[in-house]
Amino acid sequence: MQSVAAVAENTAFDVARRRADFPILGKRVYDKPLVFLDSAASAQKPQSVIDAVNHCYTREYANIHRGVYWLSVRATEAYEGARVKVQRFLNAASEREIVFTKSTTEAINLVATSHGAAALNAGDEIILSQLEHHANIVPWQLLRQRIGIDIKVAPIDAQGNFLLEEFEKLLSPRTRLVAVTHTSNALGTITPVDEIIRMAHAEGALVLLDGAQSVVHGPVDVQALDVDFFAFSGHKLYGPSGIGVLYGKADLLSAMPPYQGGGDMIRRVTFEKTEFADIPSRFEAGTPHIAGAYGLSAAIDYVSAIGMDAIAAHESELLEYATQRLQEINSLRLIGTADDKAGIVSFELDGVHAHDIGTILDREGIAVRVGHHCAQPLMDHFGITGTVRASFGLYTDKSDIDALVQALGAVREIFD
Ligand code: PMP
Repeated sequence: MQSVAAVAENTAFDVARRRADFPILGKRVYDKPLVFLDSAASAQKPQSVIDAVNHCYTREYANIHRGVYWLSVRATEAYEGARVKVQRFLNAASEREIVFTKSTTEAINLVATSHGAAALNAGDEIILSQLEHHANIVPWQLLRQRIGIDIKVAPIDAQGNFLLEEFEKLLSPRTRLVAVTHTSNALGTITPVDEIIRMAHAEGALVLLDGAQSVVHGPVDVQALDVDFFAFSGHKLYGPSGIGVLYGKADLLSAMPPYQGGGDMIRRVTFEKTEFADIPSRFEAGTPHIAGAYGLSAAIDYVSAIGMDAIAAHESELLEYATQRLQEINSLRLIGTADDKAGIVSFELDGVHAHDIGTILDREGIAVRVGHHCAQPLMDHFGITGTVRASFGLYTDKSDIDALVQALGAVREIFD
């Protein structure tokens, strides 16, 4: 197994070495080298994560929490160890504040369902932003259908900047929750979360951050942010799919009823009634993604050894380079040029459908995402049906961007 020390030994950011950690990047598609520019959808996995999942299934696999035998005890320790690792990674005050879910989507649904039912009433307001992924829109609409809350939407400007002053005007004593993305998956906009949280708290509202993209692109400290809920997915952080995290402040989680019922979330069950377990078990009904916890733990070790600041600096250099190079292409329009952005570029090419671009790039071995990026209200805001999106990971190299620019030049020639 590749050791974390081996990763940490190299302090300067050496992208060639990092690429060597990801076996899939050596693959050829259509007999061309793979150029993977879709990390915002899901990141590739380093060997250490693959090894950790493999290690679980080949050496330590058993169901957790209830077994008295060696394998089960060992797997339980690893699962709970992963929780502590996530706690430290987010700088949460306690591991009790870390709930394993299957994804960001499930984490947000958990808050909308459980906190929504317990703490929100008809006529209460919540604020989302124009930038949201469907995962941070639809659960709130379902809650609106159930209990009659009102949903307001904080606007953005033509560059995709979150408009703080407009947001502040939406806040009122009826605002109970602000649920916004920390980083937009479609545009890359990093939202001004310090101010959003301060303003929301001043009005007595709680804040949920959709951290699916932010946790990957830079360090997150939930205590420094003073955020109430924070959600992310393992698969975007170089870990396995099927495991995600909900961080919630202990007092808030403790006041929330269970989200799902079943094994592992109870203290005592009779046919008359059930006493529920404490947090976080109360929110983890049924057998969880055990091997996923091994993989997520290894992913956190991996990115921590490199350093989230170093990853952020690398991606910011790539963003600058890509923004500059893409503008060399005739009639390419960047969608989303906010002042503060993560390593994501979205664009249109005049007269060429995004799906045609995606298909032509694919034949060159270049993987980009095309379409609405699960953010249709955001596309509506720009009056478009979709974009081409290239998104970067810690293994992205300037040569990937060069390949993209060259292939787009060829697309331009075909359609001119
Ligand atoms: N929010 C954002 C900002 C995202 O980018 C994504 C994934 N594209 C999600 C939520 C949903 O994540 P998942 O599908 O892992 O639940």
